[in-house]
Amino acid sequence: MLNKIDHIGIAVKSLEKAKEFYEKSLGLTPSPVEPVPSQMVTTVFFKIGDSKIEFLEGSSPESPITKFIEKKGEGIHHICYEVDDLEETLSELQKSGIQLIDKSPRVGAHGKKIAFIHPKSTNGILTELTEKDK
Ligand code: ZN
Repeated sequence: MLNKIDHIGIAVKSLEKAKEFYEKSLGLTPSPVEPVPSQMVTTVFFKIGDSKIEFLEGSSPESPITKFIEKKGEGIHHICYEVDDLEETLSELQKSGIQLIDKSPRVGAHGKKIAFIHPKSTNGILTELTEKDK
């Protein structure tokens, strides 16, 4: 069902600061910074081999990322796995009683189809699924 870890999402107070470490100290090249207004976040990705690291900064006090940092501090926010067919995966998960945040795919960063699984069903780790580019 899962192809690979697509990316790991890290909640940060400052994208600029996070970028500086990965860019200058680790020598990686960032994607363009992209606001995702529907989720009240701004994101930037660094490709590492076949996976990516996603940094998320809240763009409003109401942003889930701002609230996450207030509660838990900066750190790993979610893990994203790539699947071949997102709709099919979601319907299979729902049939087996898994609690989904998104019952159908929505559009995330880079216009990709994504959906989140509730941490209650995944040992406390917010889990994102994304569909393989076709
Ligand atoms: Zn993500």
